[in-house]
Amino acid sequence: MFCPECGSTDKKMVGDVCIDCFLKDFQMIELPKRIEVQICSHCNSKLEEGKWSEEFIPEEEIIYRALERNIKIADEVSNEIVNLEIDQMKGTIAECYVEIIGEVEGTEIEETKETEVKILKTVCPTCSKVQSGYYEAVIQFRADNREIKTEEYAKADEIVERTLVKQSKRDKLAYCPQIAKLKEGYDYYIGSLKSGRKVAEALKEEFGGMIKESPRLISEDKSTGKGLYRIWISVRIPEFEIDDFVKFEDKIIQVKGIDKNRVVGEDIKTNKKQNIPLKNMEDIELIKKSSDIETTTVISKSPQILQILDPVDYSAVDLEMKEEFKDYNIGEEVKLIRIDNYTYLLN
Ligand SMILES: [Zn+2]
Ligand SMILES: [Zn+2]
Repeated sequence: MFCPECGSTDKKMVGDVCIDCFLKDFQMIELPKRIEVQICSHCNSKLEEGKWSEEFIPEEEIIYRALERNIKIADEVSNEIVNLEIDQMKGTIAECYVEIIGEVEGTEIEETKETEVKILKTVCPTCSKVQSGYYEAVIQFRADNREIKTEEYAKADEIVERTLVKQSKRDKLAYCPQIAKLKEGYDYYIGSLKSGRKVAEALKEEFGGMIKESPRLISEDKSTGKGLYRIWISVRIPEFEIDDFVKFEDKIIQVKGIDKNRVVGEDIKTNKKQNIPLKNMEDIELIKKSSDIETTTVISKSPQILQILDPVDYSAVDLEMKEEFKDYNIGEEVKLIRIDNYTYLLN
């Protein structure tokens, strides 16, 4: 065959020209002269193909990936080996080499290209939200029919912080830009709704209580008609506290603590353990505070009766002897609570 470009007649033809003429103009790779990568200077996440990815990647690796993404290898190339190299860093610009060895039409050829990758430091949308104090949820920490104690606020602050630290591994908006200290309780502003809900759950686990969410429409996107909501989450902790007496399903229970999803207590009639699931919170009624507990003395005992001194009028009160009272001695101090004209000895 005759090559119209070089006039040779004895070479392998590729299309209309001989292999040598074909390879003279052939480019194995296409690569832009300059590649830009955006990196958030706060959290190191980077913008790739329009999306911010949060995984932490060393700068070198970011450059290599940017090169890989931007190299286009021609379809005619086979068995290619591509070498990427960062020649040198000049400030935020990496001068790079791309070397390729591949086969085209049965001939092995080599090609080298130069490019630069510029790293642009910017602020990702999440970090700019954090900087502007953005929040999606407000946790309203309140108590039922009483004021919240200083220790309870301190504990709540600690729980909020601990939960957010834990959440921040997965959620960059797990932060609290503001705490509003109101007379009725604290309002914790939380960056994301997801983390806000975790905080509310953690508070509930510690204090018991009820969680209620109420969304409020903040603004509306005119073009889509979609509303932007902010969620208020109220965590209402119970009126009763540890050592108080509550009524639940006709039992009188002294509260000993709250764990996970239940109130742990003791039935003061039977002196047996009695737990109440937190989902029954609304049916728990406070009947006596721990400050109503009185102290008195055992004055006599028999197999059937334990006699104590009434701490108010000093009369003798007979109580039915129970297994738990057998070890009490005459003259010993005991604690009692009076509920509905009945005196209960406490363990
Ligand atoms: Zn030719
Ligand atoms: Zn960021």
